[in-house]
Amino acid sequence: MSSSMTAVEQGREASRKTIPGPILLLGAPGVGKGTQAKELVKLWGIPQISTGDLLRGNVAQGTQLGRVAKEIMGRGELVPDSLVDEMVAVRLQQPDTADGYILDGFPRTLGQAGWLDGRLAAQPDSLPVVAVSIQVNYNQLLRRITGRRNCPVCQTIYNVYVNPPKKDGFCDIEGAALTQRADDTEEVFKERMRAYGALTAPVVEHYRALGRFAEVDGDRPIAAIAAGIVAAVERLRQ
Ligand code: AMP
Repeated sequence: MSSSMTAVEQGREASRKTIPGPILLLGAPGVGKGTQAKELVKLWGIPQISTGDLLRGNVAQGTQLGRVAKEIMGRGELVPDSLVDEMVAVRLQQPDTADGYILDGFPRTLGQAGWLDGRLAAQPDSLPVVAVSIQVNYNQLLRRITGRRNCPVCQTIYNVYVNPPKKDGFCDIEGAALTQRADDTEEVFKERMRAYGALTAPVVEHYRALGRFAEVDGDRPIAAIAAGIVAAVERLRQ
């Protein structure tokens, strides 16, 4: 490695040599799992598998799963494990997952975690999961959720308070009118947080106990959080 490289460049160089394997991004709604997953995709070239995005895709296409999921998601509740596990199983069969993948928003219950652990244990050549939990306090999350806007074309995520587009309401890259998720209201956020505390917080404890687990402070600039996640994955993969 050249000594003239900056620390960030050296980190990138080292990251290219890491086989990332399965990475779980855990954390409450709005901590930035999707944003961070996209940073890791750029770095490692492995896919982001967001169960929220997959479900919204099913809703948009009007599939049978989408019809079931739509109302549940609109209330901020969790879609039943069996449906989500099956959807993830189908996605993991794609060849682009061979060197690893970033699960964003899955597992969200101990049942889903047990299913994933069993699936990986049945594949002896698979690397074990590395789990990274992103932490942000409640009031920040509320601001992030109610301020979140999405580009429907390139999926870039903005926030009207902390990461606004250059032109109000429009994507910097595509120029498309930004949209707001139907469940990004204060009322639905409260239910999503309740579901998180009751059903997903135990998943974080499950992976903490298994080791290969790290917590990162999500109340920092996007690049600083990404650097923290990359450093944690590199360390936990050694
Ligand atoms: P997200 O985009 O990750 O915030 O997810 C949006 C919504 O999709 C959640 O509030 C749930 O209703 C549903 N959802 C996403 N992932 C899961 C999952 N792993 N298990 C159950 N429901 C999920």
